[in-house]
Amino acid sequence: MQSKPLIGITGKHGPFENVKNALKQIDLSLLKNKRILIKPNIGRVAKPEQGYNTHPLAIAGLIETLKELPVSKIAIGESPIVGLDTFKAFERGGITEIANKYNVELIDFDAVSPIIKTIPNPRILKQTKICAPLFEYDCLISVPVAKTHMHTVVTLGIKNMKGCLYRHEKVRYHQLEYIDKQYPEKTLDSAISDLATILLPDLTVIDGYIGMEGLGPSGGDAIKSDFCVASTHPFAADFYGCLLMGLDPLSVPHLRIISERMGFFMDVDSYRSPADYKEFIVPYRLAPQDISIDYKNIVVYDQESCSACLSTLMLFLRRFKDDMSPYFLDDGKFHIGIGKGIRDAKEGTVRIGNCSRRNMNGNPKTIYVPGCPPVPTQIYKAITGVEPEENEPEVS
Ligand code: SF4
Repeated sequence: MQSKPLIGITGKHGPFENVKNALKQIDLSLLKNKRILIKPNIGRVAKPEQGYNTHPLAIAGLIETLKELPVSKIAIGESPIVGLDTFKAFERGGITEIANKYNVELIDFDAVSPIIKTIPNPRILKQTKICAPLFEYDCLISVPVAKTHMHTVVTLGIKNMKGCLYRHEKVRYHQLEYIDKQYPEKTLDSAISDLATILLPDLTVIDGYIGMEGLGPSGGDAIKSDFCVASTHPFAADFYGCLLMGLDPLSVPHLRIISERMGFFMDVDSYRSPADYKEFIVPYRLAPQDISIDYKNIVVYDQESCSACLSTLMLFLRRFKDDMSPYFLDDGKFHIGIGKGIRDAKEGTVRIGNCSRRNMNGNPKTIYVPGCPPVPTQIYKAITGVEPEENEPEVS
């Protein structure tokens, strides 16, 4: 009889020790002497400990463990949100320093043309463009930071694979429509499940040292949860990642679909985890269904947008919302919208991103900010007519 997948879970000792201790609990022999590619979540240009990105010391703990095995080669690669400079994100996130310390190569996944992969029996995606460097390595390690997500409930090891998609291919996942068959879940959840059928990590290490709760993946609040979950079973890692965040894995549509399609179990009895794992649970606040709940006097229309514009919008509101009172409409609120599905927005709503232009009906009073996505300073300038002050944003 096949043994149950094993999960390593630890916490309360900081990112470096947490990762090392979690990895000690599982069998890593499949990585021995292999060429290893580490895929963290470095989706924003942000300093460590802000909850946006994987902590560099979690990466350091992983690299030290890999070197002890040993492995034949290690590299770290990323394709961040569209429009961001990968190496700037590595630098600000502390990853460059770690790579230099351990003599590990950094790779911009988007620097070379992608490889197109066919998805057998898809729900929605017949083909997808995957970053070519992935295919030069024997094993892929997903190292997400634990975050709640406005569109997918959580973003953990499997969702982190979306950062292996070439440039705008990530955006395309948010624009799909069902053609042959309809499913109750969002098209994005079906697309993530399609990707999972052809691309899953060989090892997942969830960095829960400082995650993000609320309006994740970019507008939420940092939360110190100080845990780590590691497993060579990608689904088990995400399943326990949810539990450690105090969330029901069944409430995460992409995990539910993947479990049904790939035969993964959604109950704790199907996996072997440490008896004391509940000690490390830190409940995360979910993203609200309506952003306006968290931002009083701001009405947000988020209709069929993707994470890139959502991130831009959240960063814009974080930095500039207090400057928007002169632009309130007659209801005493500032109205702003993203996504291709905006239909019933109040006249005077600011529209962000190329696809928000649909249904604008040529209204000359509408402020429209082009870009896919635009950056927060462009939005500020389009509304106010002036450049924002020159201080460098904490996050971009
Ligand atoms: S304009 Fe914004 S929401 Fe539309 S596809 Fe581009 S990034 Fe996504």
